[in-house]
Amino acid sequence: MLLTDPKLLGALAELQVERKPAVRMASWTSLGIGGTTDMLTVCERRHLGAVFHLLRAHGIRHRLLGGGTNLLVGDGELPWVALRLGRVEPTVRIEGNCVWVDAAEDLGRAITTCAKANLGGLEGLAGLPGTVGGALRMNAGAYDTEIGKLVREVVVYRAVHGRIDTLPTDQFRFQYRRACVSTCDILLGARLELVERPCREILDRIYVCNFNRRASQPLSEKSAGCVFKNPAGASAGRLIDAMGLKGFRVGGAMVSDIHANFFVNRGRATCAEMQQLIEEVRERVWSAFHIELEEEIVLWVN
Ligand SMILES: Cc1cc2nc3c(=O)[nH]c(=O)nc-3n(C[C@H](O)[C@H](O)[C@H](O)COP(=O)(O)OP(=O)(O)OC[C@H]3O[C@@H](n4cnc5c(N)ncnc54)[C@H](O)[C@@H]3O)c2cc1C
Repeated sequence: MLLTDPKLLGALAELQVERKPAVRMASWTSLGIGGTTDMLTVCERRHLGAVFHLLRAHGIRHRLLGGGTNLLVGDGELPWVALRLGRVEPTVRIEGNCVWVDAAEDLGRAITTCAKANLGGLEGLAGLPGTVGGALRMNAGAYDTEIGKLVREVVVYRAVHGRIDTLPTDQFRFQYRRACVSTCDILLGARLELVERPCREILDRIYVCNFNRRASQPLSEKSAGCVFKNPAGASAGRLIDAMGLKGFRVGGAMVSDIHANFFVNRGRATCAEMQQLIEEVRERVWSAFHIELEEEIVLWVN
């Protein structure tokens, strides 16, 4: 394990950082894949600088974990610690037609809280699992809604400068399934501008989005959502489906027979099997259509 030095452990405890040793990342990811590592949960945002300093001084790398719903994590003993933000109340603050949401908040819960305050605009993202921080980082989108389009301000801890900045959207670009932030930046929250709308109307739209999601995605299986981004003017799922690859498998990793861009863990899939499946599908699509598929999921394989 990486966190063994008693001095380091003492210093982390003083900063009220919660430590879980030898965590199986498979239990913390929606794909159910991933080896073991130590997990640190930081609640006090003002302690982030000190935590980073300690880890760096001990030569320990970290990965920032949200809800683990868009990740493919490596097998075996992992060479980094998993860092999480603890929830700090209040996680959602309504300010007129704007809302401030904390990165550690569950996205679904934030959407419901906004709906109860008659604030809509996020309905398309209902049913999308994970945290607000993960949604911001991935610029999560579904059913004509993209979180980045609603963001007016983000609060970010910039590890390189060791300080917390509030950035208006013109200094913070969102792209298709990515926010332009350094991997050292930690998103702490955002202010979103929403639309005033009766709660009933918002809940009805959420119901429709959830219904469509249930009808088109393998929600009862272990997945990380869409594996590949849609190439310009095409749908990755349709290209894979056109190759007759639904149900195609490598060990326990399988192309879903409901949605061809969802790859599911049919039991004991390893990261190596999932990677092999990804490469195999990518190669077949390339040889048939000369279209290079690019991962949407985030790989933490080294
Ligand atoms: C069944 C299913 C359906 C899905 N449907 C959709 C969909 O319709 N549309 C869509 O866009 N996605 C979808 N996804 C993918 C996933 O839910 C989203 O990308 C989600 O926003 C990821 O959030 P997370 O908290 O789980 O992030 P994680 O998976 O934990 O992390 C993803 C990335 O974000 C980074 N990150 C997490 N928190 C922070 C933070 N606070 N600051 C900086 N970086 C951070 C991580 O380091 C990592 O690089 C689906 C996934 C599943 C399993």
